[in-house]
Amino acid sequence: MSLSEFDLIERYFTPQGEAPGVLVGVGDDAALLRVPADCELVVTTDTLLAGRHFPPQTTAADIARKALAVNFSDLAAMGAKPAWVTLALTLPEADPDWLQAFSGAFRRMLDEFGVALVGGDTTGGPLSVTVQAMGFCRRGQRMLRSQARPGDRILVTGTLGDAALGLHCLQNACHDPAWRSPDFAPAIDRLNHPQPRVAFGREAVRHCRAAIDLSDGLLADLGHVLSQSHCGARIHLPSLPVSETLQAYFRRHCQGQPDWSMIAAQGDDYELCLTAPADEVGSLMAIAQAQSLRLTDIGTVTDGRELLCLDQDEQPVTLARTGYRHFDSP
Ligand code: ADP
Ligand code: MG
Repeated sequence: MSLSEFDLIERYFTPQGEAPGVLVGVGDDAALLRVPADCELVVTTDTLLAGRHFPPQTTAADIARKALAVNFSDLAAMGAKPAWVTLALTLPEADPDWLQAFSGAFRRMLDEFGVALVGGDTTGGPLSVTVQAMGFCRRGQRMLRSQARPGDRILVTGTLGDAALGLHCLQNACHDPAWRSPDFAPAIDRLNHPQPRVAFGREAVRHCRAAIDLSDGLLADLGHVLSQSHCGARIHLPSLPVSETLQAYFRRHCQGQPDWSMIAAQGDDYELCLTAPADEVGSLMAIAQAQSLRLTDIGTVTDGRELLCLDQDEQPVTLARTGYRHFDSP
């Protein structure tokens, strides 16, 4: 690397000014942080690997935002407010243009969410970005995968399947330019710029029992909630929220038939799936509406063990795929 590791940290990753709770930030052996007295610390980490979690041509700015978004999304699913992050960066080379774009986008997103960078690690090697995010929730006020109860309604934020369509477009664009149509731009945008539902999670936590963020597909992720809660569920497939972009794709490429696997069994949506007692649904809908966020009731938690997907005639449907798995052979 032409730039020394220390110059690089100094130039691109040393935050200016003070941040709440940060007694010592970047520059010492470790950060020294103070958690507010009435709060619990919520910690998560996620790695993005070039070629695995983003296509090699992804811009530095998009990688920076996605690395933060996937971590903030995990905090949102707990009902936590993000406060601090660390950043472990492995770079093939110290390219100033790449670093400028990456650190600029990283800083802007931290500012948007009121979060401070408090430390990290910088090494040479194949491109990999690991963020650890720390946040707070009020004592005892959190959503857990294990807390769903039979009779709970199941809700999802936003729309599902757009990132899957975006990935499909990128993968096919090289041999068929039709996939580069601007009609698909919103889907590619969803893939590259996931919106962590932090503000919604923070308010929903008072009304919900269980939550998970959708990184591997609705069925796989809801499956984790159900197995940890020892419950089953009935999902009404025609209720699943689908964007205009995805509906147009189904009209043009699938004879108007929704591809349920694309909607419910592929990853990268970063929406929240929550369970709540039926009498809390009204409050949750009001919170979502105040945030101009779509929130959809898609089914119910049952005391069985199965995750049943039902069609418009309430008949069970078996889907070809159930979700993204890291160790499956391609
Ligand atoms: P050590 O050798 O003790 O691990 P480093 O040289 O790795 O220390 O890091 C020096 C300081 O810079 C530490 O405070 C560390 O947290 C911070 N740091 C290193 N890399 C980054 C980075 N990419 N982003 C933010 N802080 C970083
Ligand atoms: Mg180090």
